[in-house]
Amino acid sequence: MSAMNYREQIENIKKDGRYRRLRAISGAQGPELIVDGRKAICLCSNNYLGLAGHPALAEAQARAARELGVGAGASRLISGNMDIHARLEERIAHFKGIERVLLFSSGYQANVGVISALVGRGDFIYSDQFNHASIVDGARLSRAEIRVYPHRDTEALERMIAGDDSKGRKLIVTDSVFSMDGDLAPLDAIVKIKNRHGAMLMIDEAHATGVMGTGGKGLAVEMGCAGEIDVTMGTLGKALGGFGAFVGGSAQLVDYLINTARSFIFTTALPPSLAASALAAFDVIEAEPQRIKRLLQNVKILRKGMQKLGLNVPQGETPIIPLIIGDERKTMDICERLLDRGIFVQGIRPPTVPPDASRLRITVMSRHTKEHLERAIEAFKSLRSVIAE
Ligand SMILES: *Cc1c(COP(=O)(O)O)cnc(C)c1O
Repeated sequence: MSAMNYREQIENIKKDGRYRRLRAISGAQGPELIVDGRKAICLCSNNYLGLAGHPALAEAQARAARELGVGAGASRLISGNMDIHARLEERIAHFKGIERVLLFSSGYQANVGVISALVGRGDFIYSDQFNHASIVDGARLSRAEIRVYPHRDTEALERMIAGDDSKGRKLIVTDSVFSMDGDLAPLDAIVKIKNRHGAMLMIDEAHATGVMGTGGKGLAVEMGCAGEIDVTMGTLGKALGGFGAFVGGSAQLVDYLINTARSFIFTTALPPSLAASALAAFDVIEAEPQRIKRLLQNVKILRKGMQKLGLNVPQGETPIIPLIIGDERKTMDICERLLDRGIFVQGIRPPTVPPDASRLRITVMSRHTKEHLERAIEAFKSLRSVIAE
């Protein structure tokens, strides 16, 4: 037995072209950032509606911190369950049109806690190949049998479900908007499968909340199948601009999770000030529907602009635009060159995406101006031949 040799491990990561380092962002989040001391247009934030830097949210958070303090002091089940948590839960339930909602401190914790509470040994999980890492980890923690079905392949999903023992519980889980590809889960077909086979369906609306569906109510609402979803998860840290997450469904589901989801039970409650800024975020998206409209218009402009350059950007309506490069090093090289041109885009490499599928994950914000998008398209144009190599 010998201790870990960190340097050797890091050298191995570097050899694979998968070394990651932290970029220093100065100042507030917005469409332009200071990245490692250089000003750049940000095309890699999930702050889709620009709410992370919204003064009304900041004011709500500051006021709540003054009135209620900066921390909840304990978990919800001990002494940390404050009125404002319940108010936010009711607000989200109303917004999503579901019976009851439970807050979690982050989306990662929500997925890990909920999946491991819903299934266990002898049960089955059916998970899309491209689901978020937090779903993968929740599935592993549950000790259920994990069946990974090919991306969006509902025929394969149904074959798998039909072939499994009917005694165990069955849970289908999928991102609704996929985080690295920006494409959509075929929720309507999945709903039919879960009904035919008596399975439960959980969806992760991290990238759909505040973006898809009327008023940002999510993809299930857009597809007209929200009433068929057993468990809906969403986050407060992406389009809603803050931090935290929620899981919703029937009142009984939530009661069960309060009693069994370990990442809910054994963690400090969300700070009241964060609940306050989340409430303000819902006020803003309800009062200013033009933010979502602007976002979707910007998505169209950038997708079209890149397609016109002959870049291999898929059709789609979500603000997540993948540009697959393939090789890890080449991906990071293009990132650097874009940053030299004042455009900040992150390269995404394995294990976040499959081998040989390294990519630029480009995201659009409602606050990007026409000029921002034109400058981005100009930068991609100047690198067209490098990208195509
Ligand atoms: C970001 C993300 C999460 C995790 O949410 P956090 O609140 O950031 O922990 C979960 N699922 C998906 C699909 C995500 O993109």
